[in-house]
Amino acid sequence: MVEQARTGNFVVAVDGPSGSGKSTVSRRLASVAGARYLDTGAMYRAVTWAVLRAGVDPHDADGVEKVAADVTLSIGTDPAAPHVVADGVAVDDEIRGSEVTSAVSAVAAVPAVREMLVVEQRALIAAHAPIVVEGRDIGSVVAPDADLKVYLTASAETRAHRRSAETAADVAATAEALARRDRLDSTRTADPLQQAPDAVALDTTEMGIDEVVARLRDLLHDRTAR
Ligand code: C5P
Repeated sequence: MVEQARTGNFVVAVDGPSGSGKSTVSRRLASVAGARYLDTGAMYRAVTWAVLRAGVDPHDADGVEKVAADVTLSIGTDPAAPHVVADGVAVDDEIRGSEVTSAVSAVAAVPAVREMLVVEQRALIAAHAPIVVEGRDIGSVVAPDADLKVYLTASAETRAHRRSAETAADVAATAEALARRDRLDSTRTADPLQQAPDAVALDTTEMGIDEVVARLRDLLHDRTAR
C-alpha cells in the first residue's frame, strides 16, 4: 500500500542554472508522467514584478520583504498551460521581460522572500503531487525527500544560444546576462543554486529534449517502482 501511494504521489526536483533546459524538460516530463508542474522561478519573478510595480529598489531588502508579504500569488500547475497571477493580474508575459529578469536574482537573494515562497511551494507540492518542480533549490531545500532529483547543466555557449532563440535577444548579451544571474544565484548566502549530493547530474549540451525526457522518465520509473 505504501509503495502504491509513493508511486502515485511522486515528486521530481529539477534544478540547474538558467538555460539548462529545466522548463522545457520539466513540462514535458510532467506531461508524459501524468503529473502536475511547478515553476518556482515564476514565483520569484512574480514577486519581482510586484517589487518593481511598487517602485521599490530590488536591493532594498526590507522594502522587498514587505512587498513579498503583501502580494497574493496564484500559480497554475497544468504542464500544458502554466500561468501566474499576482494580485489579480495575469503576469505571464511581464515576468519574462528584461526588467524582471535583471532584477530577479536580487529579490531571490532576500532570505525572508525565500522563506515565504518555500512555504508556499511546499504547500503546492503537497496539494498537487504527483508533480515535477523546477528551480534552483528544490532538491536541496524545498523538497529534500523528492523521489527523483535531477541537476541539469549545459555549456555556457549552448545555454546562451537556447535562451537567445527564445527571447530573440543578441547571443553575446544573453551570455553575459546569464553569467551574471548564475553568479548571483550560486553565490548568495540563502539557499544558493547547488547540486544536491543525491541528484542525478545530466549535461544536456549534446542531448535533444526527447532524449533527456526519455532518460528522466526511465529514472523516475525505476525510483517509483522500488
Ligand atoms: O528559472 P528562472 O530563470 O525563471 O528563475 C528566475 C530566478 O528566480 C533565478 O535566476 C533565481 O534568482 C530565482 N530562483 C530561485 N530559486 C528557485 C527558482 C528561481 O532563487 N527555486
